[in-house]
Parts: sequence; structure tokens; C-alpha cells
Amino acid sequence: MKTKNRKKITTSKKISVNGCIFTLIRSDRKTVSVEINPNLGVVLRAPSVISDSEAIEVIRKNSSWIASATERQQKKKPRKEPTPDEVLDLKAKAKAIIPERVKVFAALMKVDPTAITITSAKTRFGSCSGKNGLSFSYLLMQYPEPAIDYVVVHELAHIKHKNHGKGFYAEIEKYMPDYKDRRKLLK
Ligand SMILES: [Zn+2]
Repeated sequence: MKTKNRKKITTSKKISVNGCIFTLIRSDRKTVSVEINPNLGVVLRAPSVISDSEAIEVIRKNSSWIASATERQQKKKPRKEPTPDEVLDLKAKAKAIIPERVKVFAALMKVDPTAITITSAKTRFGSCSGKNGLSFSYLLMQYPEPAIDYVVVHELAHIKHKNHGKGFYAEIEKYMPDYKDRRKLLK
């Protein structure tokens, strides 16, 4: 009888702590580790027995380390092409985060997008259709949250202004005075 090939069970889920999303990967391991993955963001690897609230506690305790490690990571260039597994995670993250951020800013800006679509666009992070349907590339998830929010506000501003004129940027600035700094994060 074979006992060596015990099947390893690994599960991955997204958990939100104070609006920040991290990936919790539970597997057959004994220790807990926190890492900043260039494509997935904050990843907590933990034994399968850990509860969600224990995982959140670990993230909270390490929040200052996570903030500085994330900043260091973001300064490293170039960004690597995500692997197929990372693509799946990025898409899941986009579906979890984008509609929520659109809802927050749409209420603030008093605009009403007709649809929110997650795309695989490589050349642009977002777009706004003539009918005010918004699209966002999952690749946006490789960027920090202030940059993600900038793209959300940018596309929402297109509901009122279908151009990149002065009125358009004035509208963005009204809700996001630091938008120029945020935009730099996308480069
Ligand atoms: Zn635009």
C-alpha cells in the first residue's frame, strides 16, 4: 500500500482587511509566511488549519512590514508577465475589487455606469463606451490601489466628459486632488 503519495490539498482565497485584499493560500505546511508577489500582491501562505480571522490577524500584525515591502516591490522594474495561474488570480481579484471601487466613486461623483466589464486588454487599463459601459483590464490588478482608484475615477469622469479636455481633468481633480501622483504609478 502506498502512503507516500498523499495528495496535497492547496486552497487559495481572497480576503479583505480594511479594504486591502490579500491572497490566503492554505496548504500542507507548518509555518506561516507573508510575501509580496509582483503579480498577486500580498500573499499569506499558511497551514490548512488556520482560520480566516487568524489569517487576518497575521496580516494586521505585519501591516507596516507589508506596506514598506510593497513599496520596495513596486519600485522594481520591469513588471514580469504573469503566469497562467497568476492570470486567474488577477482576474478573480479584478472581479472582487473593481465593481466595489466603481460603486464607491460612482456614488461620490453622482454618475451611473451602465455596465462594468473585466477585459484582457493589454494596451489600456480602462475604457468608457458611448453608452457609458466601463471596461477594466485585469492587468490593472498588478498596480497599487491608489493607481487602481485613479483609473476607476478616470473612466467614471468620461461619463460626463467624452474627451481628455480641461473639464475632464477638473472633474477628476474634484474627487481626487492627488490624481497626478497616482497616475505616475501606472507607468
Ligand atoms: Zn480616458
